[in-house]
Amino acid sequence: MFRSLHMKLVLIMVLLIVSLMTVVGAFLINSVVNYYTQDFYTQMALAFGDEDFIGDLKTPVEGEESGAQSIAHILESYNGTLGVDNRSRRYYVLDGGDASCLAYSDEEQAGGQVTLTRNLSLALNGETGDESDPAVDYMDVAVPIARGDGSYIVYVLDNRSTVKSLNSELFKLIMEALVFGLIISVLLSFLLSKTMITPIERLTEGAERVADGDFSHKIEVASRDEIGVLTGTFNEMARQLKETLEEVENERNKLGTLFLHMTDGVVAFSRDGAVIQSNPAAEDLLGRAIPIGGTENYDTLFSDIAPLQGVLAVEQPGYLDGTRDVDGRSLELLLTPFDQERLGGVLVVIHDVTEQRKTEEMRREFVANVSHELRTPLTNIRSYAETLVDSAGNLPAETEQNFLGVILNESDRMTHIVQDLLTLSRFDSGRTELKLAPFPFEGAVRDVYRAILMDAQRHGHTVRLDLERGLPEVVGDRERILQVMMNVVSNAIKYTPDGGLIQISAGRIGPKVWMEVTDNGIGIPAEDRGRIFERFYRVDKARSRESGGTGLGLSIAKEIMDRHEGTLELVDRPGPGLTVRLTLLVEGPSHGHP
Ligand code: ADP
Repeated sequence: MFRSLHMKLVLIMVLLIVSLMTVVGAFLINSVVNYYTQDFYTQMALAFGDEDFIGDLKTPVEGEESGAQSIAHILESYNGTLGVDNRSRRYYVLDGGDASCLAYSDEEQAGGQVTLTRNLSLALNGETGDESDPAVDYMDVAVPIARGDGSYIVYVLDNRSTVKSLNSELFKLIMEALVFGLIISVLLSFLLSKTMITPIERLTEGAERVADGDFSHKIEVASRDEIGVLTGTFNEMARQLKETLEEVENERNKLGTLFLHMTDGVVAFSRDGAVIQSNPAAEDLLGRAIPIGGTENYDTLFSDIAPLQGVLAVEQPGYLDGTRDVDGRSLELLLTPFDQERLGGVLVVIHDVTEQRKTEEMRREFVANVSHELRTPLTNIRSYAETLVDSAGNLPAETEQNFLGVILNESDRMTHIVQDLLTLSRFDSGRTELKLAPFPFEGAVRDVYRAILMDAQRHGHTVRLDLERGLPEVVGDRERILQVMMNVVSNAIKYTPDGGLIQISAGRIGPKVWMEVTDNGIGIPAEDRGRIFERFYRVDKARSRESGGTGLGLSIAKEIMDRHEGTLELVDRPGPGLTVRLTLLVEGPSHGHP
């Protein structure tokens, strides 16, 4: 019931008023009693300290019948001074010996009996009894008087009825004041609640909205007091909180985007192995869906690499790793625990190392190929040379000439291979600069045609030249482009059985010029077509070697065309034979010198 500030305020005000009125009432009543008592004894001291009055009381009048009556008469005339009103205060004239009542002020009072009080006892012993006793509910003074032969006691008794009625009046007044006070306090507390509690309630409402994530609401600062300061501080706090939250949200979005688009796969697991996060790359690399809260968990996905507990036990920044092949791709997996101090879990990062592996594999193959290619001619040279040495000049001159011819051929081949390798390595390291200059494309094609014509005719081939009219000048390294064209055309001659047909055509499409060399030779089987631009790749090694090929020609040609931002490719057409097509930008490579 008293939960709300409002009710508490009312309660405090009520308690305040009640306690205030109680204290004030008690003080008031107490001081009225004290004042009345003091006033009584002062009045008595004044009256009985008056020499004339005491003298009158003590001196008998001549011929008086009763001393007591005479004293009563004197007292009667002093009623005003003594404050005798016969309601609350009366006087008595008592016998000095036994305190029996001889006369008294109030005629109506029957018997005129008095009680033997402490002061009365003092007077019976001849002393003035004027001591106040707060414990009793009356006040009295007893003065012994010797009059003539008789001894009397003048006794004034006040039963405090005046002060009692005054007190009850006062009490009534205080009660009324209390009721008024209470009414005012309730009204005041309402007023206070309006000025104090309403802003607090507004603040509370604002805080609740902030707690619900609504930062748009600004609480009005209505005053400059502590609540006003608090409201201002609260608004500032909400603003800063909003900014901080926005920053955090921003960071989270950035991380989320990064997580979504990174090429490495990431899957996070809770301590019990449930998936708590995964990115599209992970699903793509592992070739399956990994929904949060789905059936996949650590055990179904990675327990073959390492058990969950094993990964959780790894000390950071350490990690466990493993490999896996999925759909022909080589994956490298790194498993590490995160946030070990709190709940944490396990993070698995998946790297696609297929390309890396392929490159390594190619490098290994290349080294093996180079060694092999160089060893073959070397072995030949060595064996022929040995034979010549062993025969010590006993061989017929013609055979000797033959052998020497083979040795020369083989060493030429080695020189070729080494030269080709050097060319390739210069391309690889970017040390080859193209000498770009405009040259007529048609002229280049015709030059190639003229250069190979004799050789082609030797093999009984028919060579056709089919050029579009008005081929433009192109920007490029003429010597290198000629090298590519020569390579392609001589391949057509080499790999076409004698008496074949070779067609060289060239033209222009938009910003490019093209040249195609078509033969009706042995062609390339489908499974090899993708690889013939690889270094040392030859469909038929023996045939290639016979015709002096190194298996590097097309790789170098492709490299040159790439540098020119042109293309070199096999045209997809049904056999027999092969069509090789090259294209070149008329304006030359856009990136300038490679
Ligand atoms: P090579 O020095 O052996 O000729 P290239 O790099 O020029 O080396 O060619 C690679 C391989 O491509 C050749 O060994 C051959 O098997 C194949 N090839 C190239 N051109 C043709 C063609 N016109 N017809 C058939 N096969 C070809």
